[in-house]
Amino acid sequence: MTDTYPDQAFAKHDHRHCIKAALREAARICRERNGRLTEQRQRVLELVWKSHKPVGAYVILEQLRADGFNGAPPTVYRALDFLLEHGLIHRIESLNAYTGCAHPGEQHSGQFLICSHCQRVAELDDLKVKKAIRNSAALHGFKADHQVIEIRGLCPQCQDH
Ligand SMILES: [Zn+2]
Ligand SMILES: [Zn+2]
Ligand SMILES: [Zn+2]
Repeated sequence: MTDTYPDQAFAKHDHRHCIKAALREAARICRERNGRLTEQRQRVLELVWKSHKPVGAYVILEQLRADGFNGAPPTVYRALDFLLEHGLIHRIESLNAYTGCAHPGEQHSGQFLICSHCQRVAELDDLKVKKAIRNSAALHGFKADHQVIEIRGLCPQCQDH
C-alpha cells in the first residue's frame, strides 16, 4: 500500500467494478481464512456496496426481506459482524451505518472522508496521520492501538453546487 491512498468514491467511475471487485476479494479472503461466506453474508456485502453512501442495518434488513432472505435482526447483525471481523466493511460511527472497505485484507486504521451533503464516504489511509497520532498519544504515555477518524466536509461534486 502506498502512503496516501484515497479511494475513488468521489471520482466518476463505473461502480459495477467496485461491487465486482469487492465480491471477488471477499471470496478470496474468506477462502484463505476459512471464513464461511454464505449466500446471505454475500448479499449483505453487496447491499453495503450498493453505493459509496453508508447503509444502516435497518435498510439492509428490509432489503434482505424483500429478497426473500432471513431478515431477522440477529441474523443481519451476525452477518455484519462477520464482514467487519474480516475487514470487508467498516462501521461509520457518526452515521450509524456501514460502508464497504476499499482495500480489504490489508491492515489499516480507518480514516474516512464523509461528505456532509451527499453522505458518500471515501477511505483515506494515510500512514503519516496514523503515525502522528500514535506519537502524540505516546507523549501522554498512552499506547494507541485503534484509531478511527471521521472527517466531515464536501466532496468535489458537492463543492460545485
Ligand atoms: Zn464505486
Ligand atoms: Zn478499509
Ligand atoms: Zn458530496
